[in-house]
This record gives sequence, structure tokens and C-alpha cells, in this order.
Amino acid sequence: MIDLRSDTLTRPTEEMRAAMARAEVGDDVYGEDPTVARLEERVAELFGHEAAMFTPTGSMANVLAVRSLVAPGQEVLCEASAHIARAELGAHAAYSGITMRTWIHPRGQVDLPTIRSMFAPEMGMYFVRTTAIAVENTHNFAGGAVLPIEDLRDLREYATGVGVGVHMDGARIWNAHVATGTPLVEYGAVADVMAVCLSKGLGAPVGSLMVGSADAIAEGRVWRKRMGGGMRQVGILAAAGLHALDHHVERLADDHAHARLIAEACGVDPASVDTNIVVVPRTDASEFVAAAREGGVAVSLVGPTAVRLVTHLDVTRGDAEKAAAVLGAL
Ligand SMILES: *Cc1c(COP(=O)(O)O)cnc(C)c1O
Repeated sequence: MIDLRSDTLTRPTEEMRAAMARAEVGDDVYGEDPTVARLEERVAELFGHEAAMFTPTGSMANVLAVRSLVAPGQEVLCEASAHIARAELGAHAAYSGITMRTWIHPRGQVDLPTIRSMFAPEMGMYFVRTTAIAVENTHNFAGGAVLPIEDLRDLREYATGVGVGVHMDGARIWNAHVATGTPLVEYGAVADVMAVCLSKGLGAPVGSLMVGSADAIAEGRVWRKRMGGGMRQVGILAAAGLHALDHHVERLADDHAHARLIAEACGVDPASVDTNIVVVPRTDASEFVAAAREGGVAVSLVGPTAVRLVTHLDVTRGDAEKAAAVLGAL
């Protein structure tokens, strides 16, 4: 089966497993795991921030990052199909008492005029106050769309002007970086806090990081522990992340080429595919998914009339060509 349901399905390579087996470890709740410390320092530096913190999931990194900017009873603005709004089971409300208002953009983009009209400053006891704006790059449910750095810089300038924070859900920031050539540090410069994932296209089995100021990360460590996310000899997992940063970033360009190849076979304009996700509109979406499976290709439904395919580390050029043939015939 060629599995295009998600880029979370990758399994660690032999080399990654060897790096994990060799990892030097200690108790990370005591701050004594040297491999975790190395990963955290490296990721903070990649984005030009003071500090970073390993978390078990991207959802936890998002929860900790957003709560560092937004107090209970305040709001974060985000795009309507953002992962934080749709796919984290209300975590920001359930754990942090945070409300959200959303703008709608079919490609998940920053819509600054709408954000300006939504922004609510401190107005005493009458309105919920906006204290952060969150963006997602690349945007998952918008089909892996990249947010252009120019738009993010404009957002940063606006947010600074009105005194609110910017959070970037960068679960797939690596894909945006490889697709556009924009340095990671430039993405880091537009955000106060970020969440980045090692377990999507980078192919690590587990792990994400929250990135931000030393103060935000220090507070994040307390909340991570409070939520049950304090882990012990977790250098075993951090070693997989370090290996992924060394070996699996530049190769994301292959995933993007494979996604365009499959898109073209499915009648989707390859120019509309920014990274490793293809959304195919189909009125018969569930029949299409079943027929693809018969042909040896697993894809997923993202709504009654849309099918999603995701390329990743475990999909070779040959697999992509075979998937293109099977799906093209459907
Ligand atoms: C996958 C993903 C996350 C985090 O997911 P976890 O499964 O909790 O690691 C966050 N944001 C986006 C956009 C994602 O695609």
C-alpha cells in the first residue's frame, strides 16, 4: 500500500534508529538530558529566538505557545480552518480559558484588512480583548499553502503597532522554507512564539518544539509539567529530531515534486500545489477513496467532496509515479 493519508505516517529510518540508540540521555525534568538541550538550542538558533522546549506533540506546543500570549478570558484571532481552531479539540478553551474569533480565507492566508476590522483593543468590561493573532505556515487544511513572508512582515508590523503578540503554528514550517527558500530565521523574526513539528515531513517518530523568549519558555516548562508533559530520558526522541534536521530538511523538495506529479495526474493544477499536500475536489469523494485503496493507494477524505493526499519520506519517486497512474485512472 502506498500510504498518502498523512506525513505523520513515516517510520524512522535505520540511520535515525541508530542515532536514537546511541543518544546520550539524562532526566530532562531535572534539566539533565544533554541531547534534548542540544536539540532545543539548535532549534531556537535556527529561528533566531532565545529558547525552545521539546514537547510530545505539536498540539501541546501550540497550547503552551498561545497561552504565553493570551490570558484566560482574552482572545486570539486566527483563520477559520486553522489547526488550533479546528483540530485541537478545543484545547485552548478547555485548558487556557481562551476564546477565538476567525477570519475565512480559502488558502489560509493572512487577511490584514479583515484582521484590522476584527481587532478589539482593551475596552474595559464591555468586549473581549484581542491579545494575539495566530497564523499557520504551511496551512494544513488549505492544502499545504505557504504564507508569503511579505504578508507575515506586514502582519508583524501591524501587531507590534497595536501591541498584540503573533503566534506561528509552524508544524510544516520546514516545507515553507524549502518551497520558497525563505530562511527559517526570517520566519522566526515575524513571530513572538512558534510551534514546530519533527514528526511530520521530517520523519521523527515523536516530537515538536515551542520556540520563543527565555521567559515564555521558562513559563512553558512549568505548564508542560502541569499538563503531564514532563518527560525523563527523552534524549532518545530528541536524537531522532537532530538526525532529521541533519538529513531530512532539504529532501522535502522531493516530496513537493512528487505532490505536483500526483496533482497533475488528478487534474489539479500543479502550480496550485505549494508543498506536499494535494486536495482533489471530487463529488464522489468516498467512492474515490475506496477505489484508490483497491488500487493500492491510501488517501483520506477531508470533507464530503474533497480528498487529501500527502507525500512524505516513505514515498519514493517510484511510489509517486505508481500513485499518479492509479489515481489518474480514477
Ligand atoms: C499536525 C499539526 C499540528 C500538531 O499535531 P500533533 O498531532 O498534536 O503533533 C499542529 N498544527 C498543524 C498545522 C498540524 O498539521
